[in-house]
Amino acid sequence: MPPKPSQSVTVKHAESHGYEFMGPPGAFVISVGLPLVVYLMTFLCNDISGCPVPSALSPSTLTIERLKQDVGWPANGIWGLTSWDVSAKVLGYYLLSVILQAYLPGEVATGTELASGGRLKYKFNTWSSTMFTFAICAAGTAYQGADFPVWTFIYDNYVQIITTNVIISYALATFMYIRSFSVKPGNKELRELAAGGHTGNMLYDWFIGRELNPRITLPLLGEIDIKCFCELRPGLMGWILLDFTFMAHQYKTYGFITDSMFLITAFQTLYVLDSFWMESAIMTQMDITTDGFGFMLAFGDLVWVPFTYSVQARYLSVYPLTLGIFGTAGVLCALGLGYYIFRSSNNEKNRFRTNPSDPRVAHLKFIETKSGSKLLISGWWGTARHINYFGDWIQAWAYCLPTGIAGYLVQHSSVAPATGQSLADKSFVYGGPHLHTEVLQGSARGYGIIFTYFYILYFAVLLIHRELRDEQKCLRKYGEDWKRYTEIVKYRIIPGIY
Ligand code: NDP
Repeated sequence: MPPKPSQSVTVKHAESHGYEFMGPPGAFVISVGLPLVVYLMTFLCNDISGCPVPSALSPSTLTIERLKQDVGWPANGIWGLTSWDVSAKVLGYYLLSVILQAYLPGEVATGTELASGGRLKYKFNTWSSTMFTFAICAAGTAYQGADFPVWTFIYDNYVQIITTNVIISYALATFMYIRSFSVKPGNKELRELAAGGHTGNMLYDWFIGRELNPRITLPLLGEIDIKCFCELRPGLMGWILLDFTFMAHQYKTYGFITDSMFLITAFQTLYVLDSFWMESAIMTQMDITTDGFGFMLAFGDLVWVPFTYSVQARYLSVYPLTLGIFGTAGVLCALGLGYYIFRSSNNEKNRFRTNPSDPRVAHLKFIETKSGSKLLISGWWGTARHINYFGDWIQAWAYCLPTGIAGYLVQHSSVAPATGQSLADKSFVYGGPHLHTEVLQGSARGYGIIFTYFYILYFAVLLIHRELRDEQKCLRKYGEDWKRYTEIVKYRIIPGIY
């Protein structure tokens, strides 16, 4: 069962503080650069010409026309990246998500203490909402197989779905920024500004988020906590729906589902469902207690997570690599170890903070701080200050390894090619009777790693940066007590190393 949120959870808030993410220049680079990275990953690793596209492999002969052909650049140029029809359907998906949150029953919990002293109420029913959505998809797939329109729609309109979500992220961040100016001191709705979100620099505040817990009330649907909604619902569930889409596409193309595809989809589904099952734990996480809601979270939740985290499944939908028993065992070991560290450390802290007399944590050592909160110094939290991040990072390997030494080329011909036999030249053929498509590794072998292992590198950077931010937050909150704590628990993320 998910841990019961306690009335006694208290998160004291830091005073307003300066820039993170290298201030306004960093905010600008991230806000423009990350959407571009999402498009680059989509276009440069595709099912039209290869992963990476052949022209990227031979830059000396690169021409714009050839590149446009390789990436499948729309005939109507940049306008082809959007579609009214797709946008309407994506908005329909968001609406369904809001309706499920509003109307399905859910546990109502009290959040952490706000700077104003009050506590907000949260309704948690992401699990049942997801089960409802999955049940519809499962019924549709049982009836129509891989041709179930949800899967074909997502696959065929992938780029336009990205664009819609990018636009929603920009629009939502802008709306929330403007609306945050209506937060007045002592308001009875308990609205407040995030400690780091009102520096006065418009771009930076828009990016990092001014308001801590923006909520809107919609007719018939009631109050929605925008940050909590975006953190848990459309994007995280979208990630899994994308994985299912790619699995369906692999089946539709080749008539089978590989162990690699099965593993990746199962791992990522487990990861997401785990966060839905433990939904109330979100109330003590940094995103909810400390960060405002701006472009950083909107884009991260709605675009970055679903579209970049599902890149491995997208890759395997085109190049259906089989791992075999030993490959599968290796990947499972990495996942099992990572998940064990990640889940048990997070549970330990959550139990300690919500019910310290729980027999599973009652024996752990801790230090008292002047702020009133206690800090664990034994168990998982005695090994490193963010041992949970280490577990999460190990899991990241399990997501990427199933793509093997990635990279493929897509070749079309009117004559059916013979399929390769050895691992190095293993090729897959589909299509016919007049046009055959062969997917083989060839000269692309190894270069696809840039896309399919990107997650490991990115996630390491994210976790290291997040740890530094959390460290700063804790230093501001605990002062000398935090210094005392870091002398006892010396390592940041990896015991004995970092
Ligand atoms: P944590 O769950 O690690 O929480 C950090 C907070 O815990 C600190 O600010 C402090 O808050 C409290 N704390 C720190 N040390 C101790 C201690 N020794 N004893 C008790 N409490 C302590 O932070 P996150 O929200 O960053 O991460 C939660 C999980 O989510 C992690 O497993 C992480 O890997 C995962 N995650 C995944 C992401 C993804 O994209 N997949 C992105 C980000 C996170 P307080 O003020 O209450 O003392």
